[in-house]
Amino acid sequence: MNDIRKIAVIGGGASGLIAAGYAAFNGADVTLFERNSVMGKKVRITGKGRCNVTNNCDLNEFLANVIRNPKFLYAALSNFLPADTMEFFENLGVPLKTERGRRVFPVSDKAADIARALEKYARDNGVKIINQRVKSLCVSENADLSVTGVKTEQGEYNFDAVIIATGGISYTGTGSDGDGYKLAKSVGIEVTPLKPSLVPIETEEDVSELAGVAPRNVVLSLVKKNSGKVVFSEMGEMLFTHFGISGPLTLSASAHISDMNPADFIAKIDMKPALDEAELDRRLLSDFAKYQNRDYINALGDLLPAKMIPCVAAKSGIDPHMKVNSITKEQRRSLLNTLKGLSFRLKRFRPIEEAIITAGGVAVREINPSTMASKKIGGLYFAGEVIDVDAYTGGYNLQIAFSTGMLAGQNAAWGVS
Ligand SMILES: Cc1cc2nc3c(=O)[nH]c(=O)nc-3n(C[C@H](O)[C@H](O)[C@H](O)COP(=O)(O)OP(=O)(O)OC[C@H]3O[C@@H](n4cnc5c(N)ncnc54)[C@H](O)[C@@H]3O)c2cc1C
Repeated sequence: MNDIRKIAVIGGGASGLIAAGYAAFNGADVTLFERNSVMGKKVRITGKGRCNVTNNCDLNEFLANVIRNPKFLYAALSNFLPADTMEFFENLGVPLKTERGRRVFPVSDKAADIARALEKYARDNGVKIINQRVKSLCVSENADLSVTGVKTEQGEYNFDAVIIATGGISYTGTGSDGDGYKLAKSVGIEVTPLKPSLVPIETEEDVSELAGVAPRNVVLSLVKKNSGKVVFSEMGEMLFTHFGISGPLTLSASAHISDMNPADFIAKIDMKPALDEAELDRRLLSDFAKYQNRDYINALGDLLPAKMIPCVAAKSGIDPHMKVNSITKEQRRSLLNTLKGLSFRLKRFRPIEEAIITAGGVAVREINPSTMASKKIGGLYFAGEVIDVDAYTGGYNLQIAFSTGMLAGQNAAWGVS
């Protein structure tokens, strides 16, 4: 009798490659199905091509950065922590470095190094890779529902277990276009509504003249229109685009708009968070003394990037061609308030296609958190973004893919559900 378990992994991304490699390491005969000819297409574009591979923090801090269903991840993360991920890649010959906010990157600043290491890990452990798209699952028809294989356009393959690691539904050019949700639904597994998370936001105001400006060391706050409640306030870097706001701060802020309605919020930007009001006023007085004979619009160059000056000047309500030496104390106050709280009314999220991460997915109550096995269908496992879990920016989402992938790979290999 042949005891070696035959396992299919659907998806050659972050979670699928690690799941496949670890299942094979644990003695299984593993075949990975990836629809693209290149492995880890999404991994290759992570972190602006640098790949923020994990966050060098402990378990509790990690879980505090998970937006939806952190408790579900407790077992997977305890089993494979950020420190384990770091050791994993260092052992595969990818040296890492930890930057601000404990964000971990390859020393090479090349996301492709991470993708290649994951593929090498899978192949070195004997994983066979088939470049085909899985169209459906085969499930036994007896009372005990269990998976028996997968179907692709080219044929049908038999397996003892299947791991769905197909990712989310954003940046579909990477191959992650929501197949996993359809596969899960086709066998009666609940999928919660799919929504964008970590996504750029359109503004009511036309900010196209600011497109490309990326202010650093600013504080972005999200203020609820009806109550004035501040739901997000962080310092960092943001980006203006032709439609509104993006960049790391905006993406993080978007995750705090829980009712999916950005139109209820105002984005307030403190352009000078390092200066309190008295200090900023002294700075304005000094700049105004320096440029006293200039037009107001030509006196802000030491304070702001050139492209931002017309916008700030307009929002301050001061005539751009007023001579600086005739600006009143009240007008100076108005400029100060604008610099401390440059406000834009938010309109809507950009489409899910442009989201860094998909919120929603295979319902966590369908999955055993200790094994990643489906509670309904024997031999079926899930890993990565296809599950209804998501976290803030900072390397947390890839770590979720690695931790759930490891756990799914191990339990699929051992036949534990
Ligand atoms: C622009 C961008 C930047 C990001 N930067 C970071 C970052 O720096 N740090 C971080 O932690 N997270 C980042 N993320 C999120 C991170 O990329 C994902 O959380 C992670 O890739 C999810 O891994 P996964 O294995 O679940 O899915 P994926 O990596 O998306 O892999 C899924 C794979 O399944 C394949 N597939 C899908 N359907 C089928 C099918 N039917 N048959 C065969 N194959 C199929 C796809 O082709 C794909 O290769 C970023 C995301 C984006 C879009």
